[in-house]
Amino acid sequence: MIWQPFLPYNALIVRYNEIGTKGRNRLAFEEALGESLQRVLSPVGKLKILNEHGRLFLLPEYKQHFTAEDIQLMRDVLPTVPGLSSLSPGFYTEPTLEAIEAVMVQWFDTVFEAFMAQSPRPALTYAMRARRADKKFPMTTDELERYFAKQIISAHPELSIDLKKANLLVEVEIRYHQAFISFERIYGAGGLPVGTAGGVLALLSGGFDSPVACFQMMRRGCSVDYVTFHSEPYTPPEYIHKITSIARQLNNYQPRGRLVAVNLLPAQKEIRDKCRSRYRTILYRRFMLRIANRLAKLFGSKAIVTGENLGQVASQTLDNMAVIENASDMLVLRPLLTFEKLETVAIAEKIGTFNISAQNIPDSCTVFAPDDPATSARLDFILFEEKALDVEGLVKQCLESAVIINPDTDAQHLLKDLPVGDRRFTI
Ligand code: ATP
Ligand code: MG
Repeated sequence: MIWQPFLPYNALIVRYNEIGTKGRNRLAFEEALGESLQRVLSPVGKLKILNEHGRLFLLPEYKQHFTAEDIQLMRDVLPTVPGLSSLSPGFYTEPTLEAIEAVMVQWFDTVFEAFMAQSPRPALTYAMRARRADKKFPMTTDELERYFAKQIISAHPELSIDLKKANLLVEVEIRYHQAFISFERIYGAGGLPVGTAGGVLALLSGGFDSPVACFQMMRRGCSVDYVTFHSEPYTPPEYIHKITSIARQLNNYQPRGRLVAVNLLPAQKEIRDKCRSRYRTILYRRFMLRIANRLAKLFGSKAIVTGENLGQVASQTLDNMAVIENASDMLVLRPLLTFEKLETVAIAEKIGTFNISAQNIPDSCTVFAPDDPATSARLDFILFEEKALDVEGLVKQCLESAVIINPDTDAQHLLKDLPVGDRRFTI
């Protein structure tokens, strides 16, 4: 529950952990984070970004202060921004004790009243924290903390100090050219800003896992394109709509991810007719990976990502994963390998894909699914089965049907109509 009152905050302070450790690349990381924030906060209007030694400050460019809606938007969207550890709206002022004190005198009581008006009332714990980048400031952080804590405690003796888990937090940062005072922290997703680790291509399907796998990769700095496999007319057109909605939702966390939809049916029919039924799922997956490899090369992706999880379903044993991966020339990453289902579901809820994934629409893998899937396939058996297939011809045939979809606009094009080999092509 947010109990914070609305105050006319004139700036945001942005804190990040990991990108602070990146040495020479640091500027690129900070720029990527700034771009992410500009994008998700675009309804707030243009923001001026100041890069201040390990912190970013964002100031509204065309207004005196943020509005109540702006602050609410920040609380809603910032917890999922990769690269951001925390952020506070607050007051940006002169780096002098007088200026800081003026802000405290003007606003602390309003914050305190709102704090006390909560019901049920939380433990009345309080912390005053100060940080100082500019060591020339005449007071040390200790002195600053004591100075303000003393004033606050004497005015409000019911507060008790708890530096570890205070319910009421007052923070002062002394920077080189300004000071910043805040009363609220909004936590981000941590990790690294999107776009700093290169591009990957994710196999996106209708379940809960693969969207979460995509988000986990974004949180490590990757930008993600998506490929999905359908089996029209055996799978309904709603399947593609569902995947497009998932991709659109995921694109809230990155600038732009493209979706490719490929009809796997030509390969599935041949597999059904020519191979042993218990190997179908594995053979489908090997085709998916081969096709994904071609697309990844086209997009310049550095790896393929799946939502696979060790032991969750019959096909996801170490033996099967190894046999499936053997069809890929490219690195295959499985960010959810060790996740508990509950952890995955909690993230799916947080990033807004849970409700879309929950729609029950059949996907490609259920088409001609065998009753007796192999749980530990051997590569030599699988290679033997594939001798009955024209693998390269089927890959080409499936790719003929591939459409590229811009999830944000729903624009679609046949992939083969686009200039092949141009990594930067857009739709
Ligand atoms: P998900 O919840 O992501 O559907 P799952 O737990 O259902 O995964 P599987 O169906 O075994 O597991 O799929 C494992 C992974 O293979 C998926 O997470 C996804 O990355 C990929 N995959 C499976 N089916 C498809 C498909 N039709 N299109 C694209 N990728 C797929
Ligand atoms: Mg699935």
